[in-house]
Amino acid sequence: MQEILHFIGGEFKASQSNQWIDNYNPAEGKIYSKIADANHKDVELAYQAADKAFPAWSETPIEKRSKILLKIADLIDENFETLAKAESIDNGKPVSLAKAVDIPRAAANFRFYAKAITQFSGKAFESQGLKTHNMTLNQAIGVVGCISPWNLPLYLFTWKIAPAIAAGNTVVAKPSEITPMTAFKLAEICVKADLPQGVLNIVHGRGQTAGQAIVAHPQIKAISFTGGTATGQHIAKTAAPLFKKMSLELGGKNPNLIFADCNYEKMLSTTVKSSFANQGQICLCGSRIYVEDSIYEQFKTDFIAKTKALKIGYPLEASTEFGALVSKEHLEKVAAYIKIAQEEGVKVLTGGKQIQLKDHKEGYYFEPTILEVDNNNCRINQEEIFGPVVSLMKFSSDEEALNLANETTYGLSATIWTNNLNRSMRFSQKIEAGIVWVNTWLNRDLRTPFGGIKQSGLGREGGFEALEFFTEQKNICITFE
Ligand code: NAD
Repeated sequence: MQEILHFIGGEFKASQSNQWIDNYNPAEGKIYSKIADANHKDVELAYQAADKAFPAWSETPIEKRSKILLKIADLIDENFETLAKAESIDNGKPVSLAKAVDIPRAAANFRFYAKAITQFSGKAFESQGLKTHNMTLNQAIGVVGCISPWNLPLYLFTWKIAPAIAAGNTVVAKPSEITPMTAFKLAEICVKADLPQGVLNIVHGRGQTAGQAIVAHPQIKAISFTGGTATGQHIAKTAAPLFKKMSLELGGKNPNLIFADCNYEKMLSTTVKSSFANQGQICLCGSRIYVEDSIYEQFKTDFIAKTKALKIGYPLEASTEFGALVSKEHLEKVAAYIKIAQEEGVKVLTGGKQIQLKDHKEGYYFEPTILEVDNNNCRINQEEIFGPVVSLMKFSSDEEALNLANETTYGLSATIWTNNLNRSMRFSQKIEAGIVWVNTWLNRDLRTPFGGIKQSGLGREGGFEALEFFTEQKNICITFE
């Protein structure tokens, strides 16, 4: 059985304890590889390797660092088919989605930061008449920790690692123990790209052990984390007393506001995607759909019909649009929410049940599910399900729509469908979210700041924001005669 090994100091290693975790193929419900299960001793080894590599890497000329990042991006492209297939098998996502989104974006992350770092520099402040000059240096922090979730495995792993190493840091990174395969393959790519040993160290294992050891390590000076809000709270409690820099990208319960004056066809097809892409397992999915009452019934009929037409199937089949959920535990969590919905008197309009695929009866498939809600405070509308479950609710005024959208502890993203410019601007200003999409969804320019407010996170990633996070600014003040 294939072994997924740690990558420490440029070498592939099992855990010192020789402990392993079973890795499941969610489309078949079967164990297909085993993952080295790190504890604090393996994390310490990874830290030592990163610490050793830091002086040389942080002093490597930017052009050279940039070239290595570009080489990694090229190698991701060269291994496109293999990586897409690996991501699909490990996560259960349709291979078509891995090809369209996950793998191209992983390459784009490296390519973007290879270029961004060449444009990133300090500032100068000339105090005229005082014979004083101030300037700032953006210095690499040292060894940093990057921890990522299972929903967009290589996409989010590289979104952290690329800016961290571009800025001259060395890294101890941990992908999710549920989807470690493409991070393991990235290590092989880094060897081929001649990334110096110890610049990127990847440990595999559980959050409570390996992840916790990274967060609690006194010499790892910054933590970039993407995952659930409860985990983020726990990480913050550990890292804050150690005065670590923290970037926390957490959960969401995002509103999708649909007004009668929108471009209906575009809205409808995009809303199917924003509801069910990646089986609804994207932090930016619009899981609370609010529809203006004059088009509510029409929308309901059309949306149910389009959802029912989604091709659910084995993820490696090219035509599959909707694959398997990531794990048995997650499938059970989603199913439990349908029970909660029924207990709360919420109506199931379509879906709501586990599916047994003809040739893959043990796989973790669940129907795309649409619920109808009349109380915004029900658990279905307040808690992140992170699966193929959306709720519909109608509204009759702008004010009501805004209140419904903001009535949540989360604040990651929001989508508004309207052709009224004034309304789109008013809502964009008032909606409590880190990103607002008007007449579009998941439309990302990597230069823009990305992150959430409220319980969706702390800090911003993307563009120069990530390079700022992964550097410390130092002010130098010089007087002259
Ligand atoms: P999770 O919080 O369970 O795990 C995320 C990562 O943290 C994993 O690698 C895990 O092993 C690790 N981890 C768990 N406990 C830890 C601990 N105590 N210390 C250190 N590390 C620990 O999240 P998940 O189930 O993998 O991912 C789903 C969640 O991620 C959802 O809430 C989703 O909204 C969120 N998410 C957010 C964004 C964003 O950009 N805001 C993007 C994708 C996913």
